[in-house]
Amino acid sequence: MVIVNEDIKIEPYTFLAVKYPKSNLLGIETRALELINRTGYEMVKRGYRDADIIHLNPYEFDIQIQEIYNDGLMVYPLKRVKRYNGFGSSREIVKEIDLKNTFIYACVAKEKSVIERFKKAEYSNQIDHKTIGDLLGYPECCIDRFCAIWPGSPDPVFEIAGNSNPCEKTDFSITVQDDYPLLRQHMRYFGFRVIPWLPCSTNCKESLERSKVWLEVMKSIDEKTSNNITDFLSKPSVWSMCNSQIIVEHPDFLGYASGNYLSEKRVVKYV
Ligand SMILES: [Zn+2]
Repeated sequence: MVIVNEDIKIEPYTFLAVKYPKSNLLGIETRALELINRTGYEMVKRGYRDADIIHLNPYEFDIQIQEIYNDGLMVYPLKRVKRYNGFGSSREIVKEIDLKNTFIYACVAKEKSVIERFKKAEYSNQIDHKTIGDLLGYPECCIDRFCAIWPGSPDPVFEIAGNSNPCEKTDFSITVQDDYPLLRQHMRYFGFRVIPWLPCSTNCKESLERSKVWLEVMKSIDEKTSNNITDFLSKPSVWSMCNSQIIVEHPDFLGYASGNYLSEKRVVKYV
């Protein structure tokens, strides 16, 4: 849900149009989203980070909990949230579980002490993003930057690009040069990303080191889809956002996603 003002609330939807529908890219966004969710979970299971966030689905939560138990992990349901399509500007908390419209936002970890720290950070008056970022295995520089710009910029693709070096900028347009494609986050609405955090810049060295581990785990799960994702990330593309509508123009697809409300158009070009 995007709140423009008290009278106007809109819910733009996310979809992807693959330009070559007969190619093996059909359904790629579903495979990519499944892969990045699975990778986040495996990173905990294989001991690379302390915790993961998952969405328990009321239709199959019994199967999800069985798997978590069988993997020797534990899960704690944190919040009931409205189901959303792609990027939502905020998680909307709901009281009642509606099978079709609700997810359970939950934390998965190996240790009970991690779950306790996560609960405390999530339930504090102001969500403690620093602790949560740390438990999720994000670099300190990126957590600090996120805390400085969020929630003012809930989808800070433009701000991340503006912090990159070198880049060409005007007030509303940025061209990023010599960035690390593994850190690109402007296609994540469709599942095309490697790292789950928002880097402090597209040249963050710490993020690059960690992204290599994420990619290795991704490839061990589904090499073909991982290669599709890294291929997408490495190609030149243009991201823009205006009036809560994000558009990604890419040689292989055209993607639409919901963003936050801005009356003036922002553009980031990745060359
Ligand atoms: Zn960083």
